[in-house]
Amino acid sequence: MNSSVSSSANLCAPLNPPVRILMGPGPSEIHPSVLAAMAAPTVGHLDPYFLKVMDEVQSMLRQVFQTTNHMTMAISGTGSAGMETCVVNLIEPGDRMVACVNGVFGGRLADVAARVGAAVTTIERPFGEVFSSEEIAEVVQRVKPKVVGIVQAETSTGAHQPLEEIARIVHEAGALLIVDCVTSLAGVPVEVDRLGIDAAYSGSQKCLGCPPGLAPVTFGPKALEAMDQRKTRVSSWYLDIGLLRNYWGSNRAYHHTAPINMNYALHQALRLVLSEGLEARFARHKLHHQALRAGLSAMQIQYAVAPEVSLPMLNAVRIPEGVDDVAVRSQLLNEFGIEIGGGLGPMKGKTWRIGLMGETAKKSNVLLFLAALEQCLNRQGVRPPAGAGIAAANEYYIASR
Ligand SMILES: *Cc1c(COP(=O)(O)O)cnc(C)c1O
Repeated sequence: MNSSVSSSANLCAPLNPPVRILMGPGPSEIHPSVLAAMAAPTVGHLDPYFLKVMDEVQSMLRQVFQTTNHMTMAISGTGSAGMETCVVNLIEPGDRMVACVNGVFGGRLADVAARVGAAVTTIERPFGEVFSSEEIAEVVQRVKPKVVGIVQAETSTGAHQPLEEIARIVHEAGALLIVDCVTSLAGVPVEVDRLGIDAAYSGSQKCLGCPPGLAPVTFGPKALEAMDQRKTRVSSWYLDIGLLRNYWGSNRAYHHTAPINMNYALHQALRLVLSEGLEARFARHKLHHQALRAGLSAMQIQYAVAPEVSLPMLNAVRIPEGVDDVAVRSQLLNEFGIEIGGGLGPMKGKTWRIGLMGETAKKSNVLLFLAALEQCLNRQGVRPPAGAGIAAANEYYIASR
């Protein structure tokens, strides 16, 4: 009856997204200058101006990954695309790969590897724990894998996997090490060259403080050698490093249309990371984590991870007995504009995941969150000592000046 598609009844209102305080597992808060960078004019993906942007993004990514790896670039896609890029380029059907699974993202790594045709051996730790070097030594001796994949910062559990010993063991066994640095990059040290990590991937929306949409990756010399020795073609056309290196490398051959404005955003986000300085940035993440921990502990809220292996940027805590997970998260969002994450996998309904990633890691967020949480807990009939959370966090900040 009504043939007019432009009838006003069908016209959506312009978007007007709410301003949130992003204290979940990512995306994290974004500096206004990063959002402004996205609004700059779009140029062509082979425009000399954009080629310069790509060069600078690569050079800044090398600094953040602490590597001189030439093959360092931003994959057009989210962190999971970075994961697939590392796996699909290093694995040929039938290759043995060990996947270390102590959370959802280790599980995803195993899934991706199996889909690419790897003969996958998984080793597991309960959610919230990390792998010992003995466990890794045992499995690499038994399986003799081509590749070992492990997550440095398990965002589903808040556990920080130490890598130093593991990297040594994997290399002594002649295997390649893939490390998931999606949440760790720019929040805790990711020392690609010092540890000899062969392939690492990250995502733009965690501690890098950029919207989601790009996945920084880096490949070391042994990884490139393994790619050169492949007998089969990489099963993904889009993520084939052999093709991508012609675009991000000196050839500048068209491969796909890079998301131009996302790369502007990453460029600005990386500028902010490097102008702050990596060491200062790691220290800032630690400071706010410790203040939050002091506050939560004064409110009798327990971490789901041992302190020695707690990540600063992802605080997984146990939901107190009798408290409704969803009701609290809704109240935080509706009354305070604060987003935190719920538990994933076996932690669903049992933990909250409080992110202090990148721009999110600041005093005002920690103090507001503790105040808001106190109100939410009170509504649930749980009454921590009044004001104790904020007082303890404040005390920590004052003492650490
Ligand atoms: C977020 C995350 C991913 C997946 O990244 P997406 O951007 O959601 O695709 C992978 N690994 C870890 C550890 C993460 O935190």
